[in-house]
Amino acid sequence: MEILPQSAFALLRKQLSQWYRCARRPLPWRLVPGVYATVVSEIMAQQTRIATMLPYYENWMRRFPDFEALAAADEAEVLRHWEGLGYYSRARNLHRLSKAYVALAEKPRTSQEWESLPGIGPYTAAAIASIAFGHPSAVVDGNVVRVLARLMGEEREFASNGEAVKFFRPPADELLDRENPGAHNQAMMELGALLCLPKKPRCAECPVAAFCKSAGKPEAEALPRIVRRVVEKMEVNRVLHLENGAILLHRIAADAKRLAGQYELPEPKLLGLQPREKPLAVRTRSITHHRIVERIYRHDGPFPVKWTKQPGLALVPLEKLESLTLSGPHRRWLGEILGRTRQN
Ligand code: SF4
Repeated sequence: MEILPQSAFALLRKQLSQWYRCARRPLPWRLVPGVYATVVSEIMAQQTRIATMLPYYENWMRRFPDFEALAAADEAEVLRHWEGLGYYSRARNLHRLSKAYVALAEKPRTSQEWESLPGIGPYTAAAIASIAFGHPSAVVDGNVVRVLARLMGEEREFASNGEAVKFFRPPADELLDRENPGAHNQAMMELGALLCLPKKPRCAECPVAAFCKSAGKPEAEALPRIVRRVVEKMEVNRVLHLENGAILLHRIAADAKRLAGQYELPEPKLLGLQPREKPLAVRTRSITHHRIVERIYRHDGPFPVKWTKQPGLALVPLEKLESLTLSGPHRRWLGEILGRTRQN
């Protein structure tokens, strides 16, 4: 697959690297780099926007400054520091990875060695190996796919993100600056994040516009062509039961596939209730291709005996909420609703 005439590669890499040196954002893992900082930032940045993850990253690095500190922490504390970022398997994997890393006599360096550790896929392995060790592995994420699709003017339709990543891996390898793979990979991702935007790419400011088949063309916005998953709508009802300064919460089973061990407001069916009145609050959120509408109903009666038989249900004193890991945006919701309830 030929992305460009060979003669253009060196110039493209040079222009990209000069632009990156001046334009890159001063992110904390770039200002204080290191293997652990690279690993944490790469895993945290998956499925999360940089602006959202920044305060979590700072907080995480204060509490777990290195692999050893993270490996020694207990899982409940690790999850509590991840709360609000979603996709908790990333926190569990990072914890398992730290334990495995600390136990290794020979530390991994290449992308193949990193891929053998828990929770590390090809993208993360290539990012860590190239950025922290200068190993020549090309990174192909959503930003890089977009830049390459436009540079190459690639019009074919991909059935999924995974298929697009696979297709663009060879050209990404071909384009990789083997002298400076870490900076090159970051420059490609930064170009996608700052200039080669999904909508309205800023071609007039782009350092590689001279090599790009889509530069300045309205069709650029349509690339890459990836079949979008249909958004599925879901509805979830929840119950807010307060009693003597405590709140009724449901602890998700430890062996559940998702959100294991986390607390949330129980669903009415768990309590044998049928919501009939107007909800106290309605909240909407999106997770991958699901759009979820959550309705929170207030229950004012006493705590029935049958609830004590339901596994995972507990009345938790409000002052203990801080020490629990709540699922999804529950902490924000409860802050809003309880603040409002107290004022009423
Ligand atoms: S010229 Fe435009 S479309 Fe091409 S890589 Fe740059 S920003 Fe993207």
